[in-house]
Amino acid sequence: MTDIPRNVEIATRTLGAIAQMDRDRVREMNRALASSYQQLDRKLLVLVEAGIRDPDSIQTQLKKLNELTNAIAVVNPDAIAVYERKLENLITEGQKYGIDMLEQTVRAYERETPQFLGNVAIEPAANQVSSGMTRLRNHSDRAAQNINRLMTNAILTGQGPTKTAKQLQQQFGLLKSRAENIARTETMSAFNAAATQRFSGYGIKYVQILALLDDRTTPVCRFRHMKIIRISESQPPYHFQCRSVSMPLKREWLTEEDLKFAGKEYAKTAGNGLNQAGIFERLNNIPPPNPIKIDDFFKN
Ligand SMILES: [Zn+2]
Repeated sequence: MTDIPRNVEIATRTLGAIAQMDRDRVREMNRALASSYQQLDRKLLVLVEAGIRDPDSIQTQLKKLNELTNAIAVVNPDAIAVYERKLENLITEGQKYGIDMLEQTVRAYERETPQFLGNVAIEPAANQVSSGMTRLRNHSDRAAQNINRLMTNAILTGQGPTKTAKQLQQQFGLLKSRAENIARTETMSAFNAAATQRFSGYGIKYVQILALLDDRTTPVCRFRHMKIIRISESQPPYHFQCRSVSMPLKREWLTEEDLKFAGKEYAKTAGNGLNQAGIFERLNNIPPPNPIKIDDFFKN
């Protein structure tokens, strides 16, 4: 897919990300894209007006703006003229301050081909819009919606969990630990779910769960460490502040040694009765994953 122009690639990914959404969610997605655009646009103007000639950071911001414009073109085609005008304004503004590279960057972007998945996390943001409300359902509807919007924006603008937690704290009066918890868990859930979808697009059928093993590891995650599960089954995070992740797995990627090692890990937790549902599984009413036996995976 290396010869697909970047703008087409973003548009295609956005189409994929909103394909399963109902009208309300598409509206939420549109809202998030628009406010993220505004946020980045403002940030870029400040950089330009301050006369900061930091080509790298200006270029990164501009690329994000371009990607957001391409995504908005899919979600809200009627608004596209407005955003194209905004980009032109930005270029004009840059020229006023003697920064000519804005135009070159925008033009170059249009010809650029993707070397890596985009700067703007379209798929994780779409997951936040679609599933965040369920994950946040121990809050009131109003609070969950506001937190979800803040999280979606944070994902789209690429803001880190520390700053996001601070905003959650300030805007919703949450305790610091609670705010950090939400910022981390939501970001991780959204990115993990998006990764799962992306893996399945590449013909991946299995993932292996990797837990971080120390004295904070929960029994559920200890049990699931190294287990191979089908991609359709429950994936981490399994609880608040969960540090487990899942890795895509294909039989041909593993050596005999890898399988033997996984077998030993399986044996450590065999019959200890800890294969129970995690908190998110109980909240979302989904079954715990059913690890596939090493021998069965070997046969596949
Ligand atoms: Zn965990």
